[in-house]
Amino acid sequence: MPIKKVEVVPFLEKWICDSCGKGEMESVNIQLLSNPPKTKHICNNCGKVEYSLGAYPTYVFVEKKKPVVRKPRTRKQKQTGKP
Ligand SMILES: [Zn+2]
Repeated sequence: MPIKKVEVVPFLEKWICDSCGKGEMESVNIQLLSNPPKTKHICNNCGKVEYSLGAYPTYVFVEKKKPVVRKPRTRKQKQTGKP
């Protein structure tokens, strides 16, 4: 079983409130006894209550890609009009 170590970049995934669009939904330690269980979240701006399968905010790890090496341009490109 070959094991490979891969460099990753950590991200914090935040659930933005659907209701006010400004606040972040924060999980509280209450679960609905549904199947599968859902976690209660409360918006830290407007107080809206929502339930979701996962708990937010949550950490996700994205594989770090090798930087793309570009060849330097030999000729200057014509500049287009800036907006
Ligand atoms: Zn809100």
